[in-house]
Amino acid sequence: MHRDHSLTFWPAAVSDGRLCVKAMSCLFCRILDGSIPSQAVYQDDECYAFADINPQAPVHILVIPRAHIASTAEAGKEHSALIGHLFLAAAEIARSKGLTKGYRSVINTGSDGGQTVDHLHVHLLGGRPMTWPPG
Ligand code: AMP
Ligand code: ZN
Repeated sequence: MHRDHSLTFWPAAVSDGRLCVKAMSCLFCRILDGSIPSQAVYQDDECYAFADINPQAPVHILVIPRAHIASTAEAGKEHSALIGHLFLAAAEIARSKGLTKGYRSVINTGSDGGQTVDHLHVHLLGGRPMTWPPG
């Protein structure tokens, strides 16, 4: 039987502690609550990191906050430490993966920024030389 997951109500944490329909239908909130499987790489109280399903480099990991924040455009000053934490978690993962020659950690924001999942995430890309500017 076909099941439309977009209409399913899922519990999910949001940054202000309330639940909202947007968070409930969010792909990465469902990964956080385990209802969509993922390949875990790292986790702590504030964030979760897992393998990207469509890797663009030998190492391609997504680091996401446990709280639902749609993007940096929606983030506020109260998220400063959390966003810093995501980048430092990415740096720790890069160390654990042996990316001694460097890596790219990047956040895409909005449609022009190439964001396709509206739950803020840091991409950690490594294991090959990156080009600049990105496409
Ligand atoms: P962005 O385009 O910056 O919003 O990045 C979203 C990323 O999520 C893309 O690199 C996708 O390949 C990745 N992605 C989408 N669905 C999944 C999933 N179920 N598990 C892991 N990664 C995913
Ligand atoms: Zn979410």
